[in-house]
Amino acid sequence: MQKNYETYLKFLEEKLTAFFEMQKEYICCHKGCSLCCRNAEFPYSQLEVQYLAVGFFTLEEKLQELIEKRFYELGEQKKTFNGGVFLYDCPFLIDNCCSVYEYRGVVCRTFGLLSQSPDGTVKTPFCCFKGLNYSKVFDSETKQLSDEKVKEYGYKENPLGFNLSYEFLTNPDFERGFNIVFGEKKPLLDWFCK
Ligand code: SF4
Ligand code: SF4
Repeated sequence: MQKNYETYLKFLEEKLTAFFEMQKEYICCHKGCSLCCRNAEFPYSQLEVQYLAVGFFTLEEKLQELIEKRFYELGEQKKTFNGGVFLYDCPFLIDNCCSVYEYRGVVCRTFGLLSQSPDGTVKTPFCCFKGLNYSKVFDSETKQLSDEKVKEYGYKENPLGFNLSYEFLTNPDFERGFNIVFGEKKPLLDWFCK
């Protein structure tokens, strides 16, 4: 199963790399920028978590202990949390970089791109609202991307959205195509805490 999942990830990476390249004038991702790894739920399937664990065990012992401690503390916080959806910084984020980058899950690989569902609904990456990706062409009044701003800033192409929803990228067609089973899906934290 791991080999098949790696084949799927290679396929996904090739697509996403092409999308990032197409959108590069709107993208300002760089090493050390880690807002996308903070304050979220991070949906993960059983298959993705198993692969993440492979990456975890490549880390030196001290890092493993730190990550385990973070998961434990977040789990304790969640037990007494009653304010809706529990959001947290990803425990795998070390010094603003992903410590398991090669093993990160599907959702992590799509951070920063404009997503568009088949019905045409466009979802801007959240960091747009933090002055990052696509922010120059986002109109805060209409809450939409603005053709006028695209012209005003002299961008060559209008921003393009892709179907990158987690549900789509982990759907049964991909499971059949790559002979993989994603399995149960839940927030990353819930895989590591009781
Ligand atoms: S696994 Fe890595 S890329 Fe994904 S949220 Fe955590 S630190 Fe970020
Ligand atoms: S997706 Fe946004 S927050 Fe994440 S690295 Fe790129 S610019 Fe930074």
